[in-house]
Amino acid sequence: MAVARSTELRLDRLTRAPVVVTGARQNRPNRPTGGCPFCPGGLESPEPYEVRWFPNRWPPLDKDRAEVLLYSPEHGLALWQLGVAGVRRVVDLWVDRSVALGGRPGVAYVLLFENRGAEVGATIDHPHGQAYAFSEVPQAPLRELTLGRCALCDPPAERTIVSQKGLWRAWCPEASAWPYELRVAPASHTQSLPALGDDEKEALAVVLVDALARLDQLFDAPMPYMLWWHQRPTDDGEWPLAHLHAHVAPLLRAPGTPRFVAAGELGSGVFFNPVVPEDAAAKLRGLPGA
Ligand SMILES: [Zn+2]
Ligand SMILES: [Zn+2]
Ligand SMILES: [Zn+2]
Repeated sequence: MAVARSTELRLDRLTRAPVVVTGARQNRPNRPTGGCPFCPGGLESPEPYEVRWFPNRWPPLDKDRAEVLLYSPEHGLALWQLGVAGVRRVVDLWVDRSVALGGRPGVAYVLLFENRGAEVGATIDHPHGQAYAFSEVPQAPLRELTLGRCALCDPPAERTIVSQKGLWRAWCPEASAWPYELRVAPASHTQSLPALGDDEKEALAVVLVDALARLDQLFDAPMPYMLWWHQRPTDDGEWPLAHLHAHVAPLLRAPGTPRFVAAGELGSGVFFNPVVPEDAAAKLRGLPGA
């Protein structure tokens, strides 16, 4: 049987969708045995740390282009539970990895993201995210970068806003594909995490802590989510439309009830959202937050 030893980028001949085939990753453990490898003293973090990064041991991309980012030495906390000071350290780590990976020759795009919760495939319950460094700008950000004008410079409707601080806002986009979906962005046309000033980083930490706390308060249970950052590519392009923002896609549409992407949606490319985004925003706004 042919097993892909490393990673290979293929294009589907029908859909033209790019797929990275990572045969070797099938051998990775679903859950590590023994102690948590991310806790201080563990396999991936022998020394004490506040935040830390290291190359992914089971890389989905070649050449150390996939990293694990540890948000905190404390096991079992959510990102928002690190508080503003803790999240501020995570923001600095995101900036650091954006600069370091984006500065490498041949890296066109740094994608920072987090899968939170076993339901979305997080195999270790220790606060962490990841970074992928792509040699080309991937399709999802590229689509947004080639729209013709910056959609994020238009302020979101007041009734969709969940949380704000300084120039930063978190809101439920009017055409959210996911129930309780959040978009997080500064009002200013800041292009990347490294371009943020100190005050803006602080305000980002405040908004993230507050908005993500509300997701956990919504059903009084930890909300599994996928979070990813979109920022300016790191190739030589101009990219005038790059406007830093995060997408947050929560998994649950009701307590204990996941939102599955269904055949009608994949078959049509049209999403069906059972929660009216303006109602989602009102509900999230009404919670205590952090
Ligand atoms: Zn741990
Ligand atoms: Zn803009
Ligand atoms: Zn985006």
